[in-house]
Amino acid sequence: MRFGVISDIHSNLIALDAVLDSMGSVDQYWCLGDVVGYGPEPNECIERLLELDHVAVVGNHDAAAIGAASPRLFNGEARRAVEWTARVLTKESAEYLRSLPEQMEHDQVLLVHGSPRDPIWEYVTSRGQAADAFAASEVQYLFVGHTHIPLVFVQDSQGKVLSGAPEDDLTLRLGSERLLINPGSVGQPRDGDPRAAYAIVDSDRMLVEFHRVEYDVEEAQRRMKTMGASEWLTSRLAYGR
Ligand code: ZN
Repeated sequence: MRFGVISDIHSNLIALDAVLDSMGSVDQYWCLGDVVGYGPEPNECIERLLELDHVAVVGNHDAAAIGAASPRLFNGEARRAVEWTARVLTKESAEYLRSLPEQMEHDQVLLVHGSPRDPIWEYVTSRGQAADAFAASEVQYLFVGHTHIPLVFVQDSQGKVLSGAPEDDLTLRLGSERLLINPGSVGQPRDGDPRAAYAIVDSDRMLVEFHRVEYDVEEAQRRMKTMGASEWLTSRLAYGR
């Protein structure tokens, strides 16, 4: 089976469609949260996901947009985007976001937005945080989002944790080690590469692939301006920061 792993779409439909095109056919999509927030097309992104065979967990922006997390925990730009999103969400979209669990576990795979010990808020950026995440879960493969930065942490049989930033088109073999994988962000990359990020898990070949795909950033920026997004928020799409 082939699984498409996507995270942090952030209401960027153009980036989402570019990723879906680039992935080709997959058996199921795994979405690691933050479908909405920042971008101009929250309802359209949810509608697109609903056309796909997918499973998804809730992110901090999703939770805030439906009043399940306090917008006070966001900085000014993010809070304004949360408030805008909350205003434009359709009843169906809000219901969809409300239906999302904080974590999903199936057959040695855990899907969570932040980390298993703090599902929507913790950023796993260091080997220490990854070690804590491994300790908080029993499964072999952990998939997280939230940081918008593609990263892989490997825990060997001695419990030692190593990390690396996957390049575009990197393929990793799934073996006996435990892995914590962040595919990066579809709609708002922050690793200095503005291209949309995603991963593919191939359970027959026991591989995970990391990919980047270009999308029409200028059109996405034009659409952001129509929702009144700030220059700072709009321009960062072009830099991937
Ligand atoms: Zn996010």
